[in-house]
Amino acid sequence: MNQSCLFCRIVRGEIPTPLIYEDEICIAFNDINPQAPVHALIIPRDHITSLAHARPQDGATLGQLMLVAARIAEDKGIAASGYRTVINTGADGGQSVFHLHVHVLGGRAFGWGPG
Ligand code: AMP
Ligand code: ZN
Repeated sequence: MNQSCLFCRIVRGEIPTPLIYEDEICIAFNDINPQAPVHALIIPRDHITSLAHARPQDGATLGQLMLVAARIAEDKGIAASGYRTVINTGADGGQSVFHLHVHVLGGRAFGWGPG
């Protein structure tokens, strides 16, 4: 846990945030500034600063984040139409919250590349 980390504070319940999924490894909630009709974030309960900070022992957690992303896409009704999963890492990656998170975006078609 990281006292001042925004997403650790959400995990601790200090910032009231409706959860769309939770288990012992991770939680998920809707992005406060959605970039698509569906825009959810999946975060580990434990503080991992970014993908670049993940350790070998975090492998099961990383796998769970991806499995939950697919589950949320199913729950939100975008699995058949398709969706985008994104992990922004570091400055050039556009990361703004330094607690690892997977974005799930859908409900519209996306271009490529990221810009
Ligand atoms: P990133 O730029 O990849 O680090 O993504 C951080 C995301 O967190 C952005 O899409 C923000 O809109 C989102 N965000 C920031 N604060 C909150 C919050 N309190 N609740 C939900 N989403 C948030
Ligand atoms: Zn954190």
